[in-house]
Amino acid sequence: MLLKGKNVFLTGGSRGIGKAAVYELVKNGANVAFTYVSSEEGAKDTLNNAKKLNPEAKVSYYKMDVKNSKDVDQTVEKAIKDFGSINVVVNNAGILRDGPIHFMSNEQWDEVIQTHLTGTFYVCRAFIDEFIVNKGGKFINISSICHVGSAGQANYSAAKSGIIGFSKALAKEYGNKDIYCNVIVPGYFKTELTDANASEMIVEQFVRLSMLQREGKPDEFGKAIVFFASDLSSFVNGDVLYVTGGLDTIPPYNTKRQKKKE
Ligand code: NDP
Repeated sequence: MLLKGKNVFLTGGSRGIGKAAVYELVKNGANVAFTYVSSEEGAKDTLNNAKKLNPEAKVSYYKMDVKNSKDVDQTVEKAIKDFGSINVVVNNAGILRDGPIHFMSNEQWDEVIQTHLTGTFYVCRAFIDEFIVNKGGKFINISSICHVGSAGQANYSAAKSGIIGFSKALAKEYGNKDIYCNVIVPGYFKTELTDANASEMIVEQFVRLSMLQREGKPDEFGKAIVFFASDLSSFVNGDVLYVTGGLDTIPPYNTKRQKKKE
């Protein structure tokens, strides 16, 4: 078991690719503390399935809003207490609030930047002392192929680019203490997040632009998390792994991008 004895903290485990990551982590022997913000039902479902996959794994969930630094600090403290220590942290929680720049409200901009970029900073900051005391630890931060600049998603593109710069800076500041900080850039995975925001036409374009000519399967994202969480990545730090099926660009802006507004 690649992750036997490792304790992982993951944000946004109640749905989507975060849920799949929890499953891959426990299948590989890890204990997992994961968070949700609104969907306790989703969190319960993740926990029950994870326990079925590995009855020996310790799995717990916590309600936490990554936008709220006090909430983050308190939840991190509680998770460390409950699990004894945390060895790996995955910043996965995310939202979309799409729109063209000239119609984008302050709220749309702020909510996306705060959830992805500021939230990643809050969670990493809260764990640095723990990793220093443990003489090492691993951060895995989730960006997006949209970091190359996605029309209609300026807030999201900026946040996801920012996560790459932030993660490289963290790796440079703390790498000499055996603290790792790597980034995963997912391509297109069908989840509630993408389902609610992309029309069928956009999905087809994502698939057509990828070298594998298909969407990602959530467990394929989970396997990349296992790689970074395990010793398989012992000489990888401050790096970016593309899990995109060979997607290096994204479809051009199209008014049908926003499914809900059609
Ligand atoms: P989902 O919408 O399916 O899940 C989002 C998760 O984040 C949920 O668990 C949700 O909790 C949690 N969350 C949302 N807001 C907050 C918050 N303020 N505080 C704490 N938790 C929060 O998204 P995906 O699984 O599709 O995406 C996961 C990550 O992967 C995101 O960072 C996304 O940007 C990135 N990504 C996804 C891609 C894809 O194709 N799916 C492509 C590229 C990147 P709750 O259920 O309680 O609301």
